[in-house]
Amino acid sequence: MTGLAADHLERGSVGLESGASVVGSSAAPGQRLPMLESLRRIVQEVNNAPDLERALTIIVQRVKHAVGADVCSVYLNDFDNRRHVLHATDGLRARAVGRVRLELGRGLIGLVSERAEPINLDDAVSHPRYQRITDTGEEHYHGFLGAPIIQNRKVLGVLVLRQREKRHFGDDEVTFVVTLASQLAGAITFARTNGELARLQDDGIPQRFLPGLPASPGIGIGTAVVVYPPADLNAVPDRRAENADNEAKDFLGAVEHVAEDLDRFAARTQAHLSAEDMALFDAWRLMLESDTLIDGTLSRIRAGNWAPGALRETIAEHAKVFDDMDDAYLRERASDVRDLGRCILTHLQKLAAAPIQYVPNTILVGDEISAMQIADVPREMLAGIVSTTGSGSSHVGILARGMGVPAAMAVADLPVGRVEGRELVVDGYRGRVYVAPGPAVRAEYQRLAEDDAALTNELQALRHLPAETTDGYLVPLYLNTGLVSEARPLGIEESAGVGLYRTELPFIVRDTFPGEAAQMSNYRRVLELFAPRPVTIRTLDIGGDKPLPYFPMHEANPFLGWRGIRITLDQPEIFLTQVRAILRASIGLDNLQILLPMISTVGEVDEALLLIHRANEELLEEGYQVKLPPIGVMIEVPAAVYQCEALARRVDFLSVGTNDLTQYLLAVDRNNAHVAKLYDEFHPAVLRALLQILAGARVHGREVSVCGEMAGDPLATFLLLGMGVHSLSMGAGSLLRVKRVIRSISRARAREVLKVALQCEDAASVRRLLLDALEAVGLGGLVRPGK
Ligand code: PEP
Ligand code: MG
Repeated sequence: MTGLAADHLERGSVGLESGASVVGSSAAPGQRLPMLESLRRIVQEVNNAPDLERALTIIVQRVKHAVGADVCSVYLNDFDNRRHVLHATDGLRARAVGRVRLELGRGLIGLVSERAEPINLDDAVSHPRYQRITDTGEEHYHGFLGAPIIQNRKVLGVLVLRQREKRHFGDDEVTFVVTLASQLAGAITFARTNGELARLQDDGIPQRFLPGLPASPGIGIGTAVVVYPPADLNAVPDRRAENADNEAKDFLGAVEHVAEDLDRFAARTQAHLSAEDMALFDAWRLMLESDTLIDGTLSRIRAGNWAPGALRETIAEHAKVFDDMDDAYLRERASDVRDLGRCILTHLQKLAAAPIQYVPNTILVGDEISAMQIADVPREMLAGIVSTTGSGSSHVGILARGMGVPAAMAVADLPVGRVEGRELVVDGYRGRVYVAPGPAVRAEYQRLAEDDAALTNELQALRHLPAETTDGYLVPLYLNTGLVSEARPLGIEESAGVGLYRTELPFIVRDTFPGEAAQMSNYRRVLELFAPRPVTIRTLDIGGDKPLPYFPMHEANPFLGWRGIRITLDQPEIFLTQVRAILRASIGLDNLQILLPMISTVGEVDEALLLIHRANEELLEEGYQVKLPPIGVMIEVPAAVYQCEALARRVDFLSVGTNDLTQYLLAVDRNNAHVAKLYDEFHPAVLRALLQILAGARVHGREVSVCGEMAGDPLATFLLLGMGVHSLSMGAGSLLRVKRVIRSISRARAREVLKVALQCEDAASVRRLLLDALEAVGLGGLVRPGK
């Protein structure tokens, strides 16, 4: 359900109390259901509709009935042909569907679309924009209510109610129609993308893409493999069963396990529950053994779906029967059915825990994809990543860039459950996804992918050349690593060392905190791999979007809460164990640097230094030949920007975490797709903060590195070079792209561009300026598809 619908439902803003319009979609004759209830049911039906045509039909029929109008229709905007096309109606002639085409912007439909707000007229005929449409069999309808169907600020169409007599639709009816119109937006966008709409319109509008956010540059063409969190029935995709007999056996096995669980649980709780409560177990047993559930699922398996998909469909159908009941108690039973479905799925997933079959050119798709799920795909098979949530600066985006895999995030309209096995194109430059692309789209992207491969090859020639400007200024490029466990991280040869080793992974994948020895062997491996080049190991930065399953933190605002250094100073045993492991790992190598995350006060630095010194001394006392390494702090909180000088005095170097710095400076959650448009490292405030950091560090002669994602953006290279940042640290996928820019420009040119950028008043102007500067040196292809 969309936020808007949910909102309306929760607040009950559709006139429940007034009790004004109370006709329900499937109410028994004479029985009138509150409009809120009607809305809930229609939303549910629309969400379960298999395709757009069905969703539209449900909407027009149910809305007409619920409001008691004479006609309900949906017009969709066909922007390419500049017209509004009638797509569904209840009340007008059925054969008018697809045939009635109004010039874009004309008539009352055009007015609703233009104004992007509902229009409610008692007497439409007397309105100057009224236009009579003859081929719909339309008489002179007087009452008119039109609501725009909007997504991402764009009007996709209009939902219209008409009445023969004069009628002013009530406020509750307007809200009701607006809410339902919002439901349609997602279904329409998806239908447009996969060509469904073209078939409906029968005139072949060009295929459209599903918009998302760019997360990792490149073009991926391949087959969708859907991943989903365990025991989440709604997230289970449809998948073709390899072997129906095995699927059926697994399903029956899972049912058997649930039956045993129920018996065990009933026996254990018998003494504490009333006979009435115990009857619930019998009800569950009955449901579990019902023909609806067993035969329904088995017949869906026989029809070709795999067991979890067949179960999802059966449970949804079964739950809907209860959902539609008028009795509140019986309606509640729908949640019992869903609970039961979840229990069966849990066992099914245990029984059928066969490894996922990745195909060549796998495009990994999911609502929330984890680093583990990405790491599970053999690298040579992974062609792209698409997530319906997150953003380019969330850790999955960072990981994709590090691996050089094209990725789009926040592709919110992608119906994950329906794309398994379908061909997808991922445009990681623009954050777009095409489902089942037609030949023209496919051919164009094939060409762009070839350009991309040529660019990657061309960049290989730079591998052993220095990152030096045309006027001889050297900017060492370091690697960000640690998000996944790799025997040999990519970029190992072409980097000057590791500028950021994120240490969270071993803490996230285990059931408990890893001990000193386990941590040490991890750190030793990376220090050895890069020696004698420096390796900067960052102390634990859990919290925020990286909680530990075994270390519960329930916070209203995790990014403003217990995170990074705040946790480790409050739990010094965790910090000391880690520091000891890091120091021991570097014995004899002499290439270690330690970095402290999330610093917001000088006190935190003083405390952390004290603990590091203590660990060092303890180890010396224990006979280990450890040595205090250079220590730096991350500047990623606005408070640290303004205290840079005081911080720089205490440590050996500064490293700017632009990912967090941007989110905290702009008050934009880096993982929240709704506000992702506001998240921009080129915001003038971020540029000014960077200048301030450099000035503070200069007072004490400290070097400043940038290790946030900005460092790996070829557009940002002009600015960071111009500012005089000493080194950059980035994911492996960005190293050669950034090196290409550095080797193509002079420091003087970078300074010129920076000067103009600092006069810009918004991020978009800065971005335009940088794009022009990059195109001017013939390198636009580094940040957009095509040569
Ligand atoms: C940052 O915030 O820019 C950073 C490098 O750290 P992380 O992305 O791990 O928070
Ligand atoms: Mg950070």
